[in-house]
Amino acid sequence: MHLARFPRHFLAHLPTPLERLDRLTKDLGGPEIWIKRDDCTGLSTGGNKTRKLEFLMAEAEAMGADMVMTQGATQSNHARQTAAFAAKLGMKCHILLEDRTGSNDANYNHNGNVLLDHLHGATTEKRGPGLDMNAEMEAVAETFRKAGRKVYTIPGGGSNPTGALGYVNCAFELVSQANDRGLVIDHIATATGSAGTQAGLIVGLKAINAGIPLQGFGVRAPKAKQEDMVFALAQKTAEKLGCSGVVKREDVVADSDYVGAGYGIPREDTLEAIRMFAELEGILLDPVYSGKGAAGLIDYIRKGRYKKGERVVFLHTGGAAALFGYDAVLEGDRARGASQP
Ligand SMILES: *Cc1c(COP(=O)(O)O)cnc(C)c1O
Repeated sequence: MHLARFPRHFLAHLPTPLERLDRLTKDLGGPEIWIKRDDCTGLSTGGNKTRKLEFLMAEAEAMGADMVMTQGATQSNHARQTAAFAAKLGMKCHILLEDRTGSNDANYNHNGNVLLDHLHGATTEKRGPGLDMNAEMEAVAETFRKAGRKVYTIPGGGSNPTGALGYVNCAFELVSQANDRGLVIDHIATATGSAGTQAGLIVGLKAINAGIPLQGFGVRAPKAKQEDMVFALAQKTAEKLGCSGVVKREDVVADSDYVGAGYGIPREDTLEAIRMFAELEGILLDPVYSGKGAAGLIDYIRKGRYKKGERVVFLHTGGAAALFGYDAVLEGDRARGASQP
């Protein structure tokens, strides 16, 4: 497998750091906890979409696009990273934002990622919940094409086989970092949403026969649906890479027990995870993805599913910009005394 065969616009700060979390490890008294810092990919506050966009935007350039479109939730980190990447390449960027939470909060609707989308020069328009957002996007793209634009559309989360190549590469990068320092990884855990991250990672891990189980923590769909989505994308990604069949259905494992009331709605353990990483390690998680992923990680450690003597790597997928859209929830949590000594 040779990723250099695929067009790629190198922009991310790679390799991202792999660090040990000593204070969190001590606090939980379980396995050694490591973190892969994909919150530090370097583009407009970082995050996992930058790796995918290196391949997607190169494809857009190769097609002669002068404009990209994508879609996501109001506080989409993917939308923000796409807007920033498009700015760097001098392309117009137009984004459809789906109101998945029904929140009327001013900061949720205008601050955080939304503010950054606009700072990068992207235009946005809103959609109500429950529509086929990729179909909505294609319809809008047609109107731009009729007006003479060369539009490249990127699916939600950048999750197609091209975008997933970014996480095939991340799997290679992580295993090679571990090899270079003699670190045996027993588990990898990460948040999983539109599936590209988990699909790319599992293809990369299986292709090099790393033998490291990958646990996804869902942020929206129920377990079976999430796993089916990841598996379908992993199969297509493997096919693109010429290694069809390398991923088996049982290699794809997601747990959606930490979603709570729904996408983008943090619950108590999400907030606890955000607090623990912030107070013990100086690391910012987010209320939509990495906070829920970390809540799963912490619970697995407390339940002894990840044990003392093992080493677990948490892939930090970013998202801190969304914190500024969730100040009401976070400060409400603080006001209840959660951070008091
Ligand atoms: C998009 C996103 C994820 C989920 O990645 P997918 O590839 O969509 O599954 C996780 N964390 C953050 C911060 C994200 O923005």
